[in-house]
Amino acid sequence: MSSLLWEIQSKGRIGTKLPDSDVPEYEMEGYLPDGMMRVSDNGLPCVAEHQVVRHFVEISSQNHHVDKGFYPLGSCTMKYNPKLSERLAGLSGFTKLHPLTPTQYIQGALKLMAHLGELLCKIGGMDDITMQPAAGAQGEFTGLMIIREYHRAQGNPRKKVIIPDSSHGTNPASIVFSGWKPVEIKSDSSGKIDLEALKPHLDEDLAALMVTNPNTLGIFESDIKKVAEMLHSVDAQLYMDGANMNALLGIARPGDFGVDAIHYNLHKTFSTPHGGGGPGSGPVAVKEHLRPFLPEPKITFQNGKYSFQTDNKDSIGKLQAFWGAFAVMVKAYAYILTVGADGLKKISQDAVINSNYLCSILSEHYELTYNETPMHEFVLSGEFLKEYGVKTLDVAKRLLDYGFHAPTIYFPLIVHEALMIEPTETETKETLDAFAKAMIEIKQEAEQDPEKLKQAPINTPVRRLNEVEANKNPRITWWDLNE
Ligand SMILES: *Cc1c(COP(=O)(O)O)cnc(C)c1O
Repeated sequence: MSSLLWEIQSKGRIGTKLPDSDVPEYEMEGYLPDGMMRVSDNGLPCVAEHQVVRHFVEISSQNHHVDKGFYPLGSCTMKYNPKLSERLAGLSGFTKLHPLTPTQYIQGALKLMAHLGELLCKIGGMDDITMQPAAGAQGEFTGLMIIREYHRAQGNPRKKVIIPDSSHGTNPASIVFSGWKPVEIKSDSSGKIDLEALKPHLDEDLAALMVTNPNTLGIFESDIKKVAEMLHSVDAQLYMDGANMNALLGIARPGDFGVDAIHYNLHKTFSTPHGGGGPGSGPVAVKEHLRPFLPEPKITFQNGKYSFQTDNKDSIGKLQAFWGAFAVMVKAYAYILTVGADGLKKISQDAVINSNYLCSILSEHYELTYNETPMHEFVLSGEFLKEYGVKTLDVAKRLLDYGFHAPTIYFPLIVHEALMIEPTETETKETLDAFAKAMIEIKQEAEQDPEKLKQAPINTPVRRLNEVEANKNPRITWWDLNE
């Protein structure tokens, strides 16, 4: 473990030189209210500039990140993010904008948001969009609020929303937040929505069904059009969790297979580094009939000018303080324009090919519970390793020793000891082969030396943590560590 800055400091050492003051000095007492004067040292470490640089470069290399190595975290699309997008988002014309700047001075920024929204509508086959939600989960909530207002306007707010048992944890949470009851239906033996299980729930109490497509098993819901028809027969809405759009770009448009509302995860599909909890952006696109209920302010274009519209009485209202995660939008916009329409299609094709290549190798060594051709990700089971006393968690930890980030584990819940692997389109065949080799060697270790696996990771800066303890009593500040 590297030292903390406080451990390498030397009192009085500084990293900057300020010019001599050319104004008279005054004692601060008398100017500040009582109790506001600092009476002790501010506690900042006293270090030189190069010590700070070396310190942060060193700790950045101790953590695993997508600029350092393969990161096959299923459902999260941890693709490599082009540095060009970062540079564009870092232009001072963007970074120095104040959110309260009058609209006549920010026409460029408004145009960027509006145009990005149009492109996303085109990609999804949808009619209109809000760019405000700052995460996928907030997008889900927004979409459900829009659907709620739609049903209210029809005179029946309805009571329940259906989710398949493969759904992401944020889905039921969003449903409860929106004031509805989540109803789970079982998947069929191929891992898809079971139409028979859906039928009994089709009534006037049903507000919507939320589905991820391809679903969290990485399988395309091939009956999705039929599902949409069934829902629409009782005017229930089809909401799509678009976190897996990396499999569909330029290939299939949700709006064409019956989806009424969808959120995109710009930070997954459209490239923004998003480890460690942010930043994100979860725009929600809707079909025409849901348009009146979109949040405000909404960007409009009239008489050659962009402005914020705030006078729609049917809108669900404002979602947050300002206009959404703007820097993420700049990156997504740069990304889409850089790769172009053909590039988007190639992204999804390559993501699906990479996943199928890896799946074809690994399914000979691990169990593939649902034996359907996967799309951009696939889910293996490590259940058989229990025979050696080894769990999926041990496999994941051991992968760190091989220099790979672990896949998503124990999700989706319907696969026991799940390993959810999403290689993404940006990885080379050599990387996929090296990962496959590591997974196969780990399986052999499980058979021959299970005790070693349970100790993993062995070579990382931090060994296996007590995750429950780390969650309940995180030690995140330097005074915690000094205790
Ligand atoms: C990531 C993800 C979400 C949530 O998105 P956040 O931006 O993390 O809030 C929802 N559903 C699926 C399937 C996801 O992978």
